[in-house]
Amino acid sequence: MKKYQMLINGARVDPATGAWFESVNPFTAQAWAQVPRGSKDDIDRAVSAAKAAFYGDWRNLTATARGALLRRLGDLIAADADRLATIESTDNGKLFAEMRGQLNYIPQWFYYFGGLADKIEGRVIPIDKPGVFNFTREEPLGVIAAITPWNSPLLLAAWKLAPALAAGNTVVWKPSEFSSVSALEFGELFEKAGFPPGVVNIVTGYGNEVGEPLVTHPDVAKVAFTGGDRTGEQVYQMAARGIKHVTLELGGKSANIVFDDADLDSAVKGVVSGIFAATGQTCIAGSRALLHRPIHDAFVEKLLALAKTARMGNPLDLNTQVGPVTTQPQYNKVLDYIRVAKEEGAVCRLGGAAATRAECGSGWFVEPTIFTGVNPSMRIANEEVFGPVLSIIPFDDEDEAVRIANNTVYGLAAGVWTTSIRRALMMSERLEAGTVWVNTYRAVSYMSPFGGYKRSGIGRESGLDAVREYLQTKSVWIDISGNTPNPFVMR
Ligand code: NAD
Repeated sequence: MKKYQMLINGARVDPATGAWFESVNPFTAQAWAQVPRGSKDDIDRAVSAAKAAFYGDWRNLTATARGALLRRLGDLIAADADRLATIESTDNGKLFAEMRGQLNYIPQWFYYFGGLADKIEGRVIPIDKPGVFNFTREEPLGVIAAITPWNSPLLLAAWKLAPALAAGNTVVWKPSEFSSVSALEFGELFEKAGFPPGVVNIVTGYGNEVGEPLVTHPDVAKVAFTGGDRTGEQVYQMAARGIKHVTLELGGKSANIVFDDADLDSAVKGVVSGIFAATGQTCIAGSRALLHRPIHDAFVEKLLALAKTARMGNPLDLNTQVGPVTTQPQYNKVLDYIRVAKEEGAVCRLGGAAATRAECGSGWFVEPTIFTGVNPSMRIANEEVFGPVLSIIPFDDEDEAVRIANNTVYGLAAGVWTTSIRRALMMSERLEAGTVWVNTYRAVSYMSPFGGYKRSGIGRESGLDAVREYLQTKSVWIDISGNTPNPFVMR
């Protein structure tokens, strides 16, 4: 079993605790790597390295040179994509096909934000005061704390690292304790690309032992967090005490809404991809299917027919469509939600139990599960399950669809299936979600802003909006009149 080291100030280092913990392969339920158990001491070392780099070698590089480093990093990721995807799949149990797709796409974030690095410009303000020249500078914030979850480890890190570095910040990254191996392997590429030491540091470990000292460290200027909303709330509170900038990408309870005028065959695929792809372990899971009553029964039959064909098994096998749940606690949680849904009166039409298929081995598998007769007040309709569990809720008209879809504390994404342009535009306006997909689902891009409404988060990742999350504006005033006015009156 490989014993990993952390990345601090460009060097591979052992944790100050001298302790490691095991990372478990969710398909075999066996430990397969040893991950350093970081602590406050490691965070102190990493933040001070990031701070020194921010005021030193990194600041001295031109924006063009920074951009070139980011693009070189993109090339190195592209060359290493298959290996990193295999590691991710082994570590978090998600399909190799999905992780490889992500790894092949991640370089685009580094190309896009690498290209943007030297296009971050201030403005000259035609100020209303004669004899004064006023302009703005867009400046980096300083040391960024990047905290990521286990479900798409490197993709979600890229969403933070690429804009943060393009803007001229340095980073201390704490990956999830359940998926740290790909982060530590990825760490090797920064040196190869030629980044100065300390620009990116990686400290692994648990949320309370590493995440908290990182978020509360006085030299951290911003926390960029992706994870559950309860953790996000804690992180937000801790960051507030230090008046830090914060971006939060949190959970969701997204609605996939199918109207009677939709192309139903496409909609069925969209609903399945929304909840069973990635075993439902995605923040944008379309975990509520809202079905227009006239097509409800026929659509459920089509959905059952397609979902029944889902092949489960080894996530490394390219034929597998539904893999295991990533962790044992998460597996227990998903099964618990299924039990609660049954107790509350939802009708289980598919699955509803742990998967015992031979091809599932000893992994933590849950059968793709579909509930009908779900009432919007049931827990299953309101809480994020983060597993392959779909709740179906009927609606009678557009107003009711909007009401049900928005009746959640979350607002990450929504899907609309219709052939009416009027409906598409009307729904995309009325749905309270950071992303609305019409006749498609689960599409993201480095170019398009992504983030949540309501409890799904604060701030945006990807696209031009993302780089602004890592900048602060300075207003510079220069008197060019040569006459200093009355000092007792505000100018
Ligand atoms: P989590 O909240 O348990 O953990 C996320 C990260 O926070 C981990 O690195 C964890 O170690 C760290 N952490 C835990 N406690 C902490 C603390 N007190 N202080 C600082 N850091 C702490 O989430 P998870 O289970 O790893 O991931 C699943 C969640 O992430 C789901 O809710 C999902 O919806 C959400 N998610 C959101 C997005 C998005 O972009 N909106 C994307 C993927 C996942």
